[in-house]
Amino acid sequence: MQKKGELVADFKDKLKKILGPEAILDAAEDLACYSADATRKSHMPETVVFPSSTDQVVAIVKLAGRYGVPLVPRGAGSGLTGGAVPERGGLVLSFTRMNRILEIDAANLTVLVEPGVVTADLHTAVESRGLFYPPDPASMTFCTIGGNIAENAGGMRAVKYGVTRDYVLGLEAVLADGKIIRTGSKCVKDVVGYDLTPLIVGCEGTLAVVTRALLRLIPLPEAKKTLTATYADMHHAADTVAGIIANRIMPTTIEFLDRPSVRAVEEYLHLGLPKDAGAFLLIEVDGEAEAIDITMEKVSAVCHANRALEVTVAEDSQQQESLWKARRSVAAALRKISPFRVNEDIVVPRAMIPEMIRRIEQISRRFNLEIVCFGHAGDGNIHVNIMGKRQEIEGERVEGAVVELFKATVDLGGRLSGEHGIGISKRPFIGKNIDPTTLNLMHKLKTIMDPDNILNPGKIFPPPESPDALSNDWKWP
Ligand SMILES: Cc1cc2nc3c(=O)[nH]c(=O)nc-3n(C[C@H](O)[C@H](O)[C@H](O)COP(=O)(O)OP(=O)(O)OC[C@H]3O[C@@H](n4cnc5c(N)ncnc54)[C@H](O)[C@@H]3O)c2cc1C
Repeated sequence: MQKKGELVADFKDKLKKILGPEAILDAAEDLACYSADATRKSHMPETVVFPSSTDQVVAIVKLAGRYGVPLVPRGAGSGLTGGAVPERGGLVLSFTRMNRILEIDAANLTVLVEPGVVTADLHTAVESRGLFYPPDPASMTFCTIGGNIAENAGGMRAVKYGVTRDYVLGLEAVLADGKIIRTGSKCVKDVVGYDLTPLIVGCEGTLAVVTRALLRLIPLPEAKKTLTATYADMHHAADTVAGIIANRIMPTTIEFLDRPSVRAVEEYLHLGLPKDAGAFLLIEVDGEAEAIDITMEKVSAVCHANRALEVTVAEDSQQQESLWKARRSVAAALRKISPFRVNEDIVVPRAMIPEMIRRIEQISRRFNLEIVCFGHAGDGNIHVNIMGKRQEIEGERVEGAVVELFKATVDLGGRLSGEHGIGISKRPFIGKNIDPTTLNLMHKLKTIMDPDNILNPGKIFPPPESPDALSNDWKWP
């Protein structure tokens, strides 16, 4: 029988044969770069590999299975729940070399990509052909399509256009035993067999490794306009969001920043944002030029009806872009102030936003914690940031506040994550949103598809030693 050290050497030799030595990292200083994601949770992998083809992925997965080595797919590592953290060591499968846009099929409005394509690069490529891929996570300039698919990422345009899942027509993916599945097609209608595509979208790399994605495109909207509205108070902004939806107006985006978020971004970028505003809405409308003006008037009327202090339409595309840059920079600006802040991405039915904001304020007062909110208000998706120094963030007070936040969310008919997924961070709480029978079925699926628990092990499901996590003891609304 081989000893552990020999086994590791043997495993690495075989990896080198598959990939060549230049596509493998195992020096500690290199491994450290692949040990964490944007949560800053970290664990060192043993090896990082950079496959260039599906065949190489197949060979790596088969090898990992044979040696019982955990395998963690990785895009850009921008995830916010620890999904790409190699918590149990093993192999990180980085997709930076599989980053080709393989085909833009303008006649059928589809694009075929490898998983390592950076989302904003895909936008640029299809927009130059008059086509549009709407999902636009705020991290789009660095996150990848593979990570977006695995997390079913949302974005600012989700209000009108939906999320990543709505644009995935088909997938090529490698299963835990190294076999390749191909789901979906270019057909607009396709009901042949079970639809496995949406099962893999949002599976956080636990069921299969995505090696190619066939994505749906739509025509690029003719024009767009951006409006900003400032408020003395967060509640009026929240009422505006609920009012826009209740009035059946459908902007492309409705983003919300509270006072500390606006301040943080202004101090970070110096764009001339209204630092003293109690709350700030950023609303975009797109479509045909004439229709946009009508929608903008309706949006503006709802803003004024809810006591907006100032409503302004951006003058040109440069001003529009700087406003969106400001929105995309909120997370970075807050991180500068509080590097270890806790960031939860709860989501509630849209009509519940005003009540959710009230509950968050109560939690902030009760636990004496600074809580900063921003996010995709048009989807009911609020990023709740508990600020503080590291020792505070890791204390019981913050844990208590998070539990209360989740309770309030569930109480209002909401979900614990709107877009960041479960990963490591939220797995103790998953049973608060999903009943035991349904969660057991999910676990059975994982066991059937990955019997040796090779693919991103430990993610999503609560550890067996915390049986409480499986009991759905909170009231459903
Ligand atoms: C500043 C900032 C802003 C953000 N804004 C948003 C936002 O607006 N909307 C949003 O939804 N998210 C947002 N995020 C979170 C994050 O960017 C998304 O979850 C994104 O989809 C992760 O992509 P990634 O390439 O970085 O994936 P990673 O973080 O590398 O991985 C995420 C998960 O995907 C799995 N994975 C990666 N590639 C594959 C593959 N080929 N096959 C199978 N599994 C794979 C990994 O194992 C992991 O579980 C933001 C993050 C930051 C830091």
